[in-house]
Amino acid sequence: MPRGNYTIQRCCEECGKIFTPSTLMSKYCSPACSKRAYKKRQIAKEKEAIRQALIRRIPSSKGYLTVKEAMLIYGISKDVLYRMIRQGLIPSYNFGQRQTRLSRQYMDEHFKAKTGSKKRKKEALSFEPKDCYTIGEIAKKFHINDSSVFKHIRRHSIPTRQIGNYVYVPKSEIDKLYKSL
Ligand SMILES: [Zn+2]
Repeated sequence: MPRGNYTIQRCCEECGKIFTPSTLMSKYCSPACSKRAYKKRQIAKEKEAIRQALIRRIPSSKGYLTVKEAMLIYGISKDVLYRMIRQGLIPSYNFGQRQTRLSRQYMDEHFKAKTGSKKRKKEALSFEPKDCYTIGEIAKKFHINDSSVFKHIRRHSIPTRQIGNYVYVPKSEIDKLYKSL
């Protein structure tokens, strides 16, 4: 049985601490965490706006992209892009010194353009109790303590749903997570 049967417990989305929420909507353990999370969201929003503005400046008719442009469009880091080029996983064209170009067609065929929202496809996951574990069940099954479970869930952005006093987590996501760790 999960611990904390009689009080609702939640994991702070900012620091991961387990706390007793004062309202059903509370996501953070303290005003400080709430403020920090808000700031992070604002910074992320600004960064994303800048990225989108830069992408808009790349003509859609452009057949060859610079590494920088590919970083923006496909959301792949510079290091990873160069490594893939070196390993021959992405064909590159040398248009002169320091002018590595990538075929946009190739990139479009092999990579998905990164969209602004990082939302997962939640509709594909079932939150029916039969398809979910509670935190206590996860802790028991995988021999870890409750707070580690919360930490992992948060770190891997696994969606959860609170129903009554229990936090439900889709079994498929958890099994995948602990199989890969
Ligand atoms: Zn917190």
